[in-house]
Amino acid sequence: MPELPEVEVVKKFLNSNFNGKRIQKIKILNKKLRYKIETNITKHLINQIITKIFRRGKYLILLFENKNTLLIHLGMTGYFRIIKEENYKKHDHLVFYFESNLLVYNDIRKFGFIKFYKPDEVLNSQHLVKIGPEPFSKEYDFKYFKLNSKKTTNIKNLLMDQNFVAGLGNIYCSEILFDAKINPKRRCKKLNNNQIKQIIKSTKKILDKAISFGGTTIKNFVVSNEKIGYFKNELKVYGKEDTGCVRCSKINKIKRIVQSGRSTFFCENCQK
Ligand SMILES: [Zn+2]
Repeated sequence: MPELPEVEVVKKFLNSNFNGKRIQKIKILNKKLRYKIETNITKHLINQIITKIFRRGKYLILLFENKNTLLIHLGMTGYFRIIKEENYKKHDHLVFYFESNLLVYNDIRKFGFIKFYKPDEVLNSQHLVKIGPEPFSKEYDFKYFKLNSKKTTNIKNLLMDQNFVAGLGNIYCSEILFDAKINPKRRCKKLNNNQIKQIIKSTKKILDKAISFGGTTIKNFVVSNEKIGYFKNELKVYGKEDTGCVRCSKINKIKRIVQSGRSTFFCENCQK
């Protein structure tokens, strides 16, 4: 499932290929996504130039010259690809036609969505209105953490909470807590000041590194020279159940536990 680094990589890909480009035509091939694609997006966006593409948490926002927007979530399996002519595949949902190529949204499991919002509505939408600060922002600091962490919850679930901090999911929460040497089961109220500072530092460090390696779980874009998906080789604990811990010893095995229905991977020996 795409998390912040993967969505950031997709944002960069879209920016380098489509920022400043005019949409000539839109074709809806299959409107069934988490929310049905509204047919009237065609009317609102035809002949419009994309003026900015940005990311908020795990969401992409496309801004058009008439200030209308598209809010996009990739769900579990959503991805974009560029094609030169109408050559569609199974699970293609939406096509944007540009002068020199076509941008296709494909989503096998249909948990993603593409929603239209009028000017200024998008930031107040149900998806974004309560979302927490970006992990790279100055707002996500020690003071914010102290004031806003729910004391009784464990640290893994806190980091997973999009209203606390935006963009983290299963993979990066496990990796961040390994980097910070914090046990994912640890209650937030039991964290000392240095540990909180370390978690914030590790959050920024791991995400930054993941972006520079092109994310972890990400599909090939067909037309792209960018390196993508290479953070998979950099994972220290995620998906490493029963392998030796790379930090403390080869004898101590990485454990997998389930927290709120989601897998967490960690080393019991060096994460306290
Ligand atoms: Zn260890």
